[in-house]
Amino acid sequence: MPLYAYRCDEDGAVEVMRPMGAAPATLSCPTCGADAARMITAPRLRGDGARIAAIDRAEASRTEPTVVSAPPPRPVGPRPAPRLDPRTAALPRP
Ligand SMILES: [Zn+2]
Repeated sequence: MPLYAYRCDEDGAVEVMRPMGAAPATLSCPTCGADAARMITAPRLRGDGARIAAIDRAEASRTEPTVVSAPPPRPVGPRPAPRLDPRTAALPRP
């Protein structure tokens, strides 16, 4: 179901979900009740926020790649013991 945007002169932008093609040219503002005119907006993806964020990052990396000047800082504290493969537990150790 698409999201339609309206603009109320008093309250600003109002977004409502309506069936495709069922959005009227004006809407009664849910806050003040005045007529809010429909705005023409670019279509947006709806759904999983993480997916949309990943798409945004991929698009941004085309023109604004993330540049690092140093490796990430080392974690503070003792290093965790390496996880050994249980299949090699019976092998002799040096
Ligand atoms: Zn209003």
